[in-house]
Amino acid sequence: MRRTRLLAGVSTSVAALLVTVLIAPSADARTRPVQPPPKSPTATGYGGAVSTVDPDATRIGIDVLRRGGNAVDAAVAAAAALGVTEPYSNGVGGGGFFVHYDAKSRRVSTIDGREAAPAAYREDTLTENGRPIPFADAVTSGLSVGVPGTPLTWDRAVRRWGTRSLRQNLAPAADLARRGFVVDATFRQQTADNEARFRDFPATRALFLPNGELPEVGSVLRNPDLARTYDLLGRGGVAEFYRGGIGRDVVRTARRPAVDPASPRMVRPGLLTTADLASYTAPERRPTRVSYRGLDVYGMAPPSSGGSTVGEALNVLERSDLRGAPAAQYLHRYLDASNLSFADRNRWVGDPAFGEVPLAGLLSQRYADSRACLLDPARALPTPQPPGDPAVRAEGCTAGGRTTPEPREGLSTTHLTTADRWGNVVSYTLTIEQTGGSGITVPGRGFLLNNELTDFDFVPLTPGVPDPNLPAAGKRPRSSMAPTIVLRDGRPVLALGSPGGATIITTVLQTLLGRLERDLSLVDAIAAPRASARNGTPQAEPAFLASPEAAELRAMGHAFTSTPEIGAVTGIEFGRHGLLIAAAEPARRGGGSAAVVRPSRRAGGPGRVRTIGR
Ligand code: GLU
Repeated sequence: MRRTRLLAGVSTSVAALLVTVLIAPSADARTRPVQPPPKSPTATGYGGAVSTVDPDATRIGIDVLRRGGNAVDAAVAAAAALGVTEPYSNGVGGGGFFVHYDAKSRRVSTIDGREAAPAAYREDTLTENGRPIPFADAVTSGLSVGVPGTPLTWDRAVRRWGTRSLRQNLAPAADLARRGFVVDATFRQQTADNEARFRDFPATRALFLPNGELPEVGSVLRNPDLARTYDLLGRGGVAEFYRGGIGRDVVRTARRPAVDPASPRMVRPGLLTTADLASYTAPERRPTRVSYRGLDVYGMAPPSSGGSTVGEALNVLERSDLRGAPAAQYLHRYLDASNLSFADRNRWVGDPAFGEVPLAGLLSQRYADSRACLLDPARALPTPQPPGDPAVRAEGCTAGGRTTPEPREGLSTTHLTTADRWGNVVSYTLTIEQTGGSGITVPGRGFLLNNELTDFDFVPLTPGVPDPNLPAAGKRPRSSMAPTIVLRDGRPVLALGSPGGATIITTVLQTLLGRLERDLSLVDAIAAPRASARNGTPQAEPAFLASPEAAELRAMGHAFTSTPEIGAVTGIEFGRHGLLIAAAEPARRGGGSAAVVRPSRRAGGPGRVRTIGR
């Protein structure tokens, strides 16, 4: 049955979406006519803040804060809204990592909502006849669907730290799904990029190709199935998902994806069972922490490589004078610190339940110093660099082991950041892996299934070198998600994160450095042209490649490949006396949406840029 209706002709334009207006005091969501909410990439003020890639999600988060909810309530409500408006990047069919700062205890905690492999998974599950399954085939398959972690993450976060029920927090997103959202150019383009495979799954076609066509920019897309899913989760709790009817539908769909009989597509069936769903947990994990020039940088521990890799790179850079360095020298060090950290990440980081990850070593200053001395101020490091061994107490520079090639990863996902009037903060990255996930929608439930298990290495990356990221029963594939919170003396100064597969790590690092070392405002640090080095050939955006620094970097031996866009950051900076500076992308992915509960008199700009942490 077709459940999505498309109303053509709602007049709007992308330009109209970009008007710089702060969110006005809320009208009751039920009486609000459907219209594109205004959005701004930066907002300054008090009483709470939300930054997401999407104006509906930000509006809903701000609304929750205005009604007395805290940062966790706002984060869950905004995430649920992103499940409506950004369904190709996240949703209840996926997973993520939730980082929380508790103002009372001044502690940072995290929830690991990463998808887990079914119990039937084996080391060779992603191979056939001894060879890796073609990556694109694995993406669009039931086989790469892991147990979704997002519903349990929301439930845990709300029970542990929230002030409202899951039902209350899901209600605005259910309402949004019912009323619909206005399709923008980014959504249409993402649908177009997925059109061929979406057409092959009748449930996906019905939901995202209304009347069999790409949704028009300015039309309204509704998802009443997802509204009902949210209602069910709200009323019956996440047991509806992990032990109930929604879960049974997830399992049935993953095991036997319904493909259009007219399509020649061969879709590999999944291995997920109801027992896999029933035994899923979303554990709290100790965050990673490095101290960087008097700041404490907290991130996500394994199975994500986000915290350890950002952390190691910061430690590597700590002995360099990045503040005083000319721009090209600063970028040179950023690129090579990234290369060294990625060499270690690829060799050492995987699900810690399946093999020891030398996390303390990777995060230690002593180990970073032994890597930092490999940096040459005049020449780019040849790549790939071999990993070091953090277990060895190194004196001087570490001699490397054997190199591992760069694994491949998708380019989807979303990040949101929230803060409340009590000082609590959430930095939350969530995903369904590829843009559009597996491409498989659960019929009647309104959401796409993830393809997260393609984040495993299908075969050992380097023969003879142990690979911590091979598939196994119940294992979580290594992630790059890097939700980050920075404290000074136990109080937040900055929180941010980004999508972008493995480029998440470099984007978070580059944005942190732009703000902390180069005195850019947060929004300018976000907007700065990006490059991403991951121990292979670095990628860079066209604006980066056109800069004078790029020419200097090339002369030092850095060779770049061009890529249109890297990442989509959202973040919040914490100023004096409760001042909040929320920021998002001015341009990438069509621009993000930052808002505050109570704007300062000077709305809009980030104000004078203050130096953080010195
Ligand atoms: N699956 C990726 C990860 O966990 C994120 C997906 C993406 O951003 O492309 O690292």
